Parts: sequence; structure tokens; C-alpha cells
Amino acid sequence: MAKSSRYVPPPSTGWRKLPIGAVIPWPGNSEEYKTGSWRTLRPVIDQERCIRCAICWMYCPDAAIIELKQEYTTKAGRKYDKTYVVNYDYCKGCGICANECPVKAIKMEPEVK
Ligand code: SF4
Ligand code: SF4
Repeated sequence: MAKSSRYVPPPSTGWRKLPIGAVIPWPGNSEEYKTGSWRTLRPVIDQERCIRCAICWMYCPDAAIIELKQEYTTKAGRKYDKTYVVNYDYCKGCGICANECPVKAIKMEPEVK
């Protein structure tokens, strides 16, 4: 996303080199902060168990659950027209999605670097 023409970078001496905190210098700037590196546990969605209720999508505080218009058929033959996946660039591993999933389709697994 292009930076706003109103954005004024901080002066380049001493403490002024620090980035500005608690402000939004231009719309959508949080897209640039890849917070996935904070994670120690990663949510893994079991597509066979998931019933596509969208609760994880609604509860994720980082909007890291993505709804894809992608069909999925379970081994038992149940068809869905959408699939939920995790965007690991932004998922911080808080576990809220796993806690809220009504069918326990999300497991938090150790992050392996
Ligand atoms: S672990 Fe937290 S940040 Fe990651 S997808 Fe689940 S709710 Fe979102
Ligand atoms: S909350 Fe669970 S069942 Fe619902 S969409 Fe998310 S993973 Fe699937």
C-alpha cells in the first residue's frame, strides 16, 4: 500500500530515530507488521472435523483466519463450498481460535523453527 503524502518520517538523530508509537502513520500500515514470528504454538485446522461455522474467523483478534472460496469434501462425503485456513504471517499463536472452536477442529502445536 502506498504511503500517505502526509506521512512525515521522524528526524534522524538520537531518540528521534525510534519509530513513532501508538499512531497509524498511514491507512493499512499494520499489514507491514508480520507478527507471526512471535508464535510459540501454531493453530492447525483439521479440515475433516471443521464444520465451517466461521467462529474462529470471527474471534481471531488478528484477522489471521482466512475464509477461502474453496470446495472441500470430507472422507465421509460431506461437501463444503468454503475452507478456513490460517495466515501464519500474522497469527500470534494466542489459541483463542482453538478455544472457541465448537468441534475442537483446531489443535495448537509447538512451533518448529
Ligand atoms: S492462534 Fe490466535 S492469532 Fe492465531 S489464528 Fe488463532 S486466534 Fe488468530
Ligand atoms: S471454529 Fe472450528 S469448526 Fe468453525 S470454522 Fe473454525 S475450525 Fe471450523
